[in-house]
Amino acid sequence: MTVTLDDQLSDATRAFLSSSRGMVIGSDTSVAAASGETIAVYDPATGTEIARVPSADKADVDKAVAAARQAFDTGAWSKIPPMFQARSMQKFADLIEANSEQLSQLETLDVGKPLGQSMMEVFGCAELIRYYAGWTTKIHGDVNPAGPSMLSYSLREPVGVCGQIIPWNFPIAMAAFKIGPALACGNTIVLKPAEQTPLTALRLGELALEAGIPPGVFNVITGYGETAGEALVDHDQVDKIAFTGSTTVGRHIMSKASRTLKKVSLELGGKSPNIVFADADLAQAAQAAMRGIWTNAGQWCVAGSRLLVEDKVHDEMVETIVSASKNLKVGPGLDASSQMGPLVSQEQFDRVTGYLDVGKAEATVALGGERLGDAGWFVEPTVFTGVDNDMRIAREEIFGPVVSVIPFSDEPDGLRIGNDTEYGLAAAVWTRDVSRAHRAARALKAGTVWVNTYGDFDFATSFGGYKQSGFGRELGRHSIDMYTQIKSVMVKL
Ligand code: ADP
Repeated sequence: MTVTLDDQLSDATRAFLSSSRGMVIGSDTSVAAASGETIAVYDPATGTEIARVPSADKADVDKAVAAARQAFDTGAWSKIPPMFQARSMQKFADLIEANSEQLSQLETLDVGKPLGQSMMEVFGCAELIRYYAGWTTKIHGDVNPAGPSMLSYSLREPVGVCGQIIPWNFPIAMAAFKIGPALACGNTIVLKPAEQTPLTALRLGELALEAGIPPGVFNVITGYGETAGEALVDHDQVDKIAFTGSTTVGRHIMSKASRTLKKVSLELGGKSPNIVFADADLAQAAQAAMRGIWTNAGQWCVAGSRLLVEDKVHDEMVETIVSASKNLKVGPGLDASSQMGPLVSQEQFDRVTGYLDVGKAEATVALGGERLGDAGWFVEPTVFTGVDNDMRIAREEIFGPVVSVIPFSDEPDGLRIGNDTEYGLAAAVWTRDVSRAHRAARALKAGTVWVNTYGDFDFATSFGGYKQSGFGRELGRHSIDMYTQIKSVMVKL
C-alpha cells in the first residue's frame, strides 16, 4: 500500500473538507450564498480542488452586517461585564488550541506552507486571543483636568460594526490580529478572508460560537474582493474597515470608504531593507536574511526583499546565503521535511515567475530563478545580485522567494538606499556599533525597525506602516485606539 501525504490528515480535517462549507452568520454556520454561487479552493502543492465555499455578494454581506449590527445595538457583547468577555475569549483560545491539528492541516492545505509553520501560527492565534482577553478588563477612559467647576471625563467606547478584510498569506494569524482587539473593545465583526484561503476563518467562526461568544458578534463571509469586499467597504451600517493586503487595493478601499466616512486602517505592502554593515555578526545576519525572505515562500509583507550589504562584506554574504540556500528543501507543506512550500495560487505563481524574468533581464542570478517541478506552484529560492535600487525588482513588491542584493558604501549610503522606497513597513539593521544601531533606527522610515534580528513579532509591540505601507497600528495597546472611540462628557458642577 502506498502511503500518501494525505493519509496523515486527521478525521476532523477530512470531515471539514468533505461536508459542504457555509458561511458563519449569526448562529448559523452553514449559510450558502443567496445566489448559490461557490468558489473553488485549491491545494497549492498539487493545484487540485479541495473544497468549495460560498461566493458572497451584496445580498449576503447585507445579511452578515445586519447580524453584526443587531448584536452590537442590543449590547449582547459590548454591554456585558468585561470579565465575561474575557472568559469567552479565553474559552475561544482554548478551543483553537484543542483544534490545532485540524486548523494547521487546513491552513497548510489552503496556503501551502510547511505544517510546522501552520502549527506555530495556530498556537500564536490562540495566544493573541488570550492577550486581548486580558485587555477587556483594562480599557478605560480618563478624567480630564477641566477646572474646579467642571467634571470632564472621557469614555472609551467601541466603534461598532467592523468589517475586516484579510489576505491569503497568513490567514489565521491575520484573522487573530484583527478579531482579538476588535472583540476586546466590544465591537462586532464581519470578517472576510481572502478568496484563495477561506478555510481556517470559517472554522474560527464556528469555534467562537462554541466558546459562547454571542451569535452575530463574529460573522465570517467568503467571497471575492471586488464583490463581497467592496460591498462591505461600501455598507452604510459598517463603522470601520480594517484591511490587510496590497497597496493598490488599500488605496481603492480608502477612496471607496470616503463616501460613508467610515474609519479605515490599512496594513499594506512593503519592500523592506535588511541592511548589513561590515561590522555585523555576518553568520547571524545571513541566517536572518534567509529567514526574512524564504519564510512563507517570501509571501510576507515584511519580507526582507532588499538585502543591502556594505561593499566590504558583499561577496562573503552572498556566498554564505547562496551556499546555504542551495540545500533548502522545497516541497509540499504536508511533507515534514519541507522547509519552504509552494506559492499560494496560479495567479501568484504567474506574478512571481514574471518577476523572475524581469530580474534575469535586469540583474545577475546568483541562485534559482526558475519554477520547480511541473505540478503545483513551486519556484526556486532566488537570489539576484548586481541589483541597483532603481530596478523594478528593487522597487516593486514581488511577494515571492526572491531577494535583491544591493551593495552600499557607508552608513549614509546604506540608510539613503534603505529609505529610497515608497513603502515603509519594516527595516532591519545589522551592526555591532550601538550608536550606529540607534542612529539607523531613528533614520529609517519604517513602522518597525529590527536591530540584529529579522521578522520578530510580539503581541505587546505595535505593528503597522509608514509611508505607502498604510496607517493604524495592530498588536499591543495601540490597536485599542483603532477599535475604540472617545466620548467626552462634561458636567457643570
Ligand atoms: P493580493 O494582491 O495579495 O492578493 P489583495 O489586496 O488583492 O491582495 O487582497 C487582500 C484582500 O482584499 C482579500 O481578502 C481580497 O479579497 C480583498 N480585496 C481585493 N480587492 C478588493 C476590493 N476592491 N475591495 C475590498 N476588498 C478587496
